[in-house]
Amino acid sequence: MVKKIERSEEEWKKILTPEQYAILREKRTEMPFTGKLLANKEKGTYNCAACGQEIFASDKKFDSQSGWPSFYDVISSDSIELVDDNSHFMHRIEVLCGSCGSHLGHVFDDGPKPTGKRYCINSAAMQFEDKE
Ligand code: FE
Repeated sequence: MVKKIERSEEEWKKILTPEQYAILREKRTEMPFTGKLLANKEKGTYNCAACGQEIFASDKKFDSQSGWPSFYDVISSDSIELVDDNSHFMHRIEVLCGSCGSHLGHVFDDGPKPTGKRYCINSAAMQFEDKE
């Protein structure tokens, strides 16, 4: 089970950078092709930048050409929470951190085999942990 973390928005504001806060807590999206983890090919895990929960592993990362770091699977299904997102006149599935509830990105059904999923995640919402 993933440990649930709750903090007030005031606390998050103190802990996170303004860019991280805008994405993780206000569900903003970073500009495509700008994130520092987009081209990262090191071995390790991608953790929630707000609480450190491990979300993705480098062996499931792929180049989706979308401009955002993309993965075709999560490390564990309880490390995330999926919610319907009907903002911006579309229906999308939002990916939240299963531990602290922060916004990470969205998941789409046009990913590669074997899952067919494309987790499209903001670079600034994650912290890379080198595990070489
Ligand atoms: Fe988190």
